[in-house]
Amino acid sequence: MGRVALDEYRRRRRFGVTPEPRGRTARQSASRLRFVVQKHRATRLHYDFRLEWNGVLLSWALPKGPSLDPSQKRLAVPTEDHPLEYAGFEGVIPEGEYGAGTVMVWDRGTWTPEVPDVDAALAKGDLAFTLTGTKLRGSWVLVRTRGYGGAGRPGWLLIKRRDARASAEDVTETAPRSAASGRLLVEIARDEGGDVARAADGDPSGVVRKLLARPGAGSGGRRTRRR
Ligand code: MN
Repeated sequence: MGRVALDEYRRRRRFGVTPEPRGRTARQSASRLRFVVQKHRATRLHYDFRLEWNGVLLSWALPKGPSLDPSQKRLAVPTEDHPLEYAGFEGVIPEGEYGAGTVMVWDRGTWTPEVPDVDAALAKGDLAFTLTGTKLRGSWVLVRTRGYGGAGRPGWLLIKRRDARASAEDVTETAPRSAASGRLLVEIARDEGGDVARAADGDPSGVVRKLLARPGAGSGGRRTRRR
């Protein structure tokens, strides 16, 4: 499955131009399955939700991002499978390339299926799972629906299930920084030669204002800053 799946990923990208990984041939999944949520300031801001399965990252685009509130069903539009290496990608996709814009590793960790047969659950369109990330934890479900995403495009919904990790907190606003580097989108764009103004537009405005007021502080990033 994996090689065919990655064909679409590779067809859309020019690897001499974009810093995104080409990806090796799909590998067998390790015992612990990874997940990643990448915040992506492309033409439109969205969050890419990816679950490791069968040696690739199954992927959905969340226009509004995930919500910890079980009453907030978040549209999840299926996108092409990505290579496992993509889980570590944070940086800038150059202008003119597919998905051009700034990418942040917004959350990452491992996931555990809550069903005995993941392939059957995906085919049925009802997958329950536990996330163990830095921001997203506890029980979630991805459900396929009709009536979302336009004609001929099956939509899915990502929904937090009611448990101790459910919350009314707006986690995309309260936790806007990278789980990998501690950076905001604006800081990733600045460090990696991206469109700083457009990236800043994807960060919560209050946090960006604070950063501009104290340009030397607040990153928490690992990379050395140019001065
Ligand atoms: Mn994306």
